[in-house]
Amino acid sequence: MKLYLASGNAHKAVEMNALSAASRLTVEIVSAKAVGGMPPVEEDTGTFIGNARKKALALRAKLPGDAWVLADDSGVCVDELGGGPGVESAYFAGPQGDSAANLRKLVDVMRGVPAERRGACFLCVLLLAGPGGAEQVFEGRCTGRLLDEPRGGAGFGYDPLFVPDGLTQSYAELDDEVKNSFSHRGRAWKQLADWLRTFSQQVGTDGKQGLANGGV
Ligand code: IMP
Repeated sequence: MKLYLASGNAHKAVEMNALSAASRLTVEIVSAKAVGGMPPVEEDTGTFIGNARKKALALRAKLPGDAWVLADDSGVCVDELGGGPGVESAYFAGPQGDSAANLRKLVDVMRGVPAERRGACFLCVLLLAGPGGAEQVFEGRCTGRLLDEPRGGAGFGYDPLFVPDGLTQSYAELDDEVKNSFSHRGRAWKQLADWLRTFSQQVGTDGKQGLANGGV
């Protein structure tokens, strides 16, 4: 079964492929690049779900009618910033979407904020869009705190600044497999995988075409 990934973010594609492999579904994640590239989408809805839907539908419009598309909208929500940058995480330091500049800005705006006010969480919305307006939404969250300075070279985006609850390492100091096992994206993916298993059984028994085309 194919899921077309509505993202131009190479890091998200890597994580999604690893999550798919670990969940033992026979799901093939096909990059937007493989089908001519992700169409430009203005992420202006103000919500993770709204932005994920826009991305999914933009890619789906380029594909055959029976295609299923997976979109991810995610970000870091900082208590001290009233939940920001949140849905604006990709553009925190400006419309160019420079992730190094975004990280530097978060370090700067949090400079001097004491440990007890450095709480934050990552949120991830995964949205599946399919034939006939079919839509499924899955959400994952990982709570933690922000470091004073970035640490670690793995991952992407704000990973070097975020330490999940119960750990001392930042996301960027963890192996991909460890990060994926409890990250915001990993938690959303677990729900998606459960749904795919159930849905494939439902449609698989009567032989109808659908998400399970090819089986999961
Ligand atoms: P969007 O979902 O394309 O709007 O981008 C989300 C932004 O949030 C990314 O550009 C990153 O800056 C940040 N982000 C989302 N997920 C992660 C993650 O797993 N680690 C670090 N940063 C992330």
